[in-house]
Amino acid sequence: SDVTQPLTDLTPAELQDYLGRQRAAYDALKERGLTLDLTRGKPSAAQLALADRLLDLPEGFKDADGVDVRNYGGLNGLREIREMFADLLWVEPDQVIAGGNSSLTMMHDTLVMCLLHGAVDSERPWGREETVKFICPVPGYDRHFTMLASYGIEMIPVPINADGPDATAIAALVKDDPAIKGMWIVPTYANPSGTTISEDVAATLVAMPTAAPDFKIFWDNAYAFHHLTEDEAKSVDILSVAAAAGNPNRPIMFASTSKISYAGSGVAFLAAAKDNVAWWLRHYQYASIGPDKVNQLRHIQFFGSAQGVRDHMLKHREILAPKFAAVDAALTAALDGLGVATWSKPTGGYFVNLDVLDGTASRVVALAKEAGIVLTPAGASFPHGHDPRDRNIRLAPSFPVLADVETAMAGVATCVGLAAAEKLAA
Ligand code: PLP
Repeated sequence: SDVTQPLTDLTPAELQDYLGRQRAAYDALKERGLTLDLTRGKPSAAQLALADRLLDLPEGFKDADGVDVRNYGGLNGLREIREMFADLLWVEPDQVIAGGNSSLTMMHDTLVMCLLHGAVDSERPWGREETVKFICPVPGYDRHFTMLASYGIEMIPVPINADGPDATAIAALVKDDPAIKGMWIVPTYANPSGTTISEDVAATLVAMPTAAPDFKIFWDNAYAFHHLTEDEAKSVDILSVAAAAGNPNRPIMFASTSKISYAGSGVAFLAAAKDNVAWWLRHYQYASIGPDKVNQLRHIQFFGSAQGVRDHMLKHREILAPKFAAVDAALTAALDGLGVATWSKPTGGYFVNLDVLDGTASRVVALAKEAGIVLTPAGASFPHGHDPRDRNIRLAPSFPVLADVETAMAGVATCVGLAAAEKLAA
């Protein structure tokens, strides 16, 4: 479009003119009969192929300690994989449990253990409380919220700033309400905001007084090493910071290789203070006789070392960075200066956070869908799918090939402009 000033500055006639041109562009878009999907943060086929040597591993069936990985046992996972990821996650190997293929499963298990048994520092199981509430930084990961909703846990949305969740607001909430038992944090390249929590915010959250003695931070570091630029965010060493603040048991960290090796067949990790790890294994012994150690050994041999993981992430970056650049380029070309959209320029992770004109996100998603471009439902990044301003859209450019990202995003930008013009002209 040749309009470059805020749409609200246009005369009614100019706005009608812009609206007419957006309608024409949209009709042309529909004519193309596209079928494109920007919904989920999945690795592309090219990214998965980077790890295909896994299919020929492991060599042999014993690890460095002589453990026969084919057999039962070793509930906390193989030593070498724990050491490798302890190094990467800034924790100690004995603070790490290497589990199955999904960190989300480990989060769910942890939550259920808290509900049924109580955490290490609980007076009673959370499930015996009248109400259980969680702080939910928004926009956030939809599956965190649906997990809580499935257990009837109340969600309190709190905004995320450039340096992480609003710690002042959170501290004020948890100080007086013992029903608030926990919170989610995606500390590095958050889904979908792309923000990384600062040392200061993290320090506040692990030190703040909480009315609940057993307040837990579910520290989901799913994108710890998923850099898109040379400016690599360093994850806060949260277990040490919490221990130094006198609350060693507050954070429980999760991570996985889902977006490093294979999304469906990676290795997941939980890391926490010694007492939390013992608590987790004590309950988990009734659920498993040991994790998939064959898969853990494959990963040990594939990466070789923590540095091997970092090197591997550079290959992902080469594939992903152009797609994120394409998202920014398409939005900039169509919407820069119009005052109807802002979007993140993430330096890592899997998402671009797009905020459109208030009250138009659902319309944009519906328009895109009609034109064959599937976006994550508006509001998905909020508890119960409810975005009070109906403005937030999560864009996930990782899965389609670059040319499809370019096509889809040009289309999305058209929908954003059209929905905004409709609203302003109404
Ligand atoms: N945590 C976050 C923040 C995610 O975005 C995702 C996947 O999109 C997951 C966890 C899922 O992790 P896993 O594959 O280890 O279950």
